[in-house]
Amino acid sequence: MNRLIDNKGFYGEFGGSWVPEMLYPNIEQLASSYEAILESTSFKDRFNSLLKDYAGRPTPLFLAESLSGALGAKIYLKREDLCHTGSHKLNNVIGQALVAMEMNKREVIAETGAGQHGVATATVCALLDLPCRVFMGEKDVQRQQPNVLRMKMLGAEVVPVSSGSRTLKDATNEAIRYWINHPEVYYLIGSTIGPHPYPDLVARLQSVISAEMKIQLMEKKGRPDPDIIVACVGGGSNAAGTFYHYIADEKVKLVGAEAAGEGVGSGKTAATIATGSAGIIHGCRTLMMQDGGGQILEAHSVSAGLDYPGIGPLHSYLHRTGRARYLAVTDKEAVEAAHLLTRLEGIIPALESAHAIAALHKLQFRESDIIVVNLSGRGDKDMDTYIESMQKRHQ
Ligand SMILES: *Cc1c(COP(=O)(O)O)cnc(C)c1O
Repeated sequence: MNRLIDNKGFYGEFGGSWVPEMLYPNIEQLASSYEAILESTSFKDRFNSLLKDYAGRPTPLFLAESLSGALGAKIYLKREDLCHTGSHKLNNVIGQALVAMEMNKREVIAETGAGQHGVATATVCALLDLPCRVFMGEKDVQRQQPNVLRMKMLGAEVVPVSSGSRTLKDATNEAIRYWINHPEVYYLIGSTIGPHPYPDLVARLQSVISAEMKIQLMEKKGRPDPDIIVACVGGGSNAAGTFYHYIADEKVKLVGAEAAGEGVGSGKTAATIATGSAGIIHGCRTLMMQDGGGQILEAHSVSAGLDYPGIGPLHSYLHRTGRARYLAVTDKEAVEAAHLLTRLEGIIPALESAHAIAALHKLQFRESDIIVVNLSGRGDKDMDTYIESMQKRHQ
């Protein structure tokens, strides 16, 4: 396995582990064991077999001919929306749940905002018969009833958190507090964020996406590398997985699409790369949206999965070094791109993934260029937003 971090978990100046001292033993235990587990035959065999028969991998690499014709390049969609439960999130939770079992952990905890990561975690815990406890802000519990009910049906315990703003960051604080008091549980993080080793662990688990792309492009085009790769970026896990095996290959252009919300300068945005600066968020040093006093700003995006005021340290590094470019896409542009893809290809994308489609309009390319867009998830969960946009159009 190639390694992008140094021994302390830094990507250049970003990353590392910035946690309260009482968490050191838990983090250290994971940091000192995860690489050997990921490389063990027992882990690899179970991971690959579940990815294949449970998640439905490899996901197809689909040549979107109408979209290609409309935009003037060869555009392939990596169909993570066809994974069981409807997004790439399953790759990560299967992997980490198996890591938890290899570490003899008896319970899994997670935090969730809109509930997507909570549902993915509850799913794999049901499959592997692991007790699962999901922390969720009280406000989010009220707003996201269908996902709360899914988690309960899957057998997870949903713990409403009533402190602070009663949203994701309070759920995170509560999960960390619980972990300090229960070091025997496994804390399952949902993206390439958090203290070392989580960003590297999650990136490696998601790297199955680019590993498959190499094989599929070789079959279809006789070469493993596309010219451009585009993926949306919330915490950065689907983009990290899509970029991973191409990062060392400078010929391949890497493009991330972050959520501009109502606009980069509107004050209602989640565009961390465009508006953020370095600081410490959720246990790592990375770019984040903060005010002059270092207070974390609230993020705004139409898409729940991109509505986050930070970005994984790998992406801060790829941005700082110029290896990847990050484009900000507004709510409006994303919704329009979702309609375009739906009409041209018969695929209703998740709002998050629609940001990656919209970013295509901001790129310059040649007719012969091969572009892979990671379609991170399906759009069923976003129908309310899409229906609202159709009603507006008809007014
Ligand atoms: C959660 C989610 C995202 C954002 O998370 P990343 O870690 O940045 O990938 C993107 N797309 C979909 C469909 C999601 O569910």
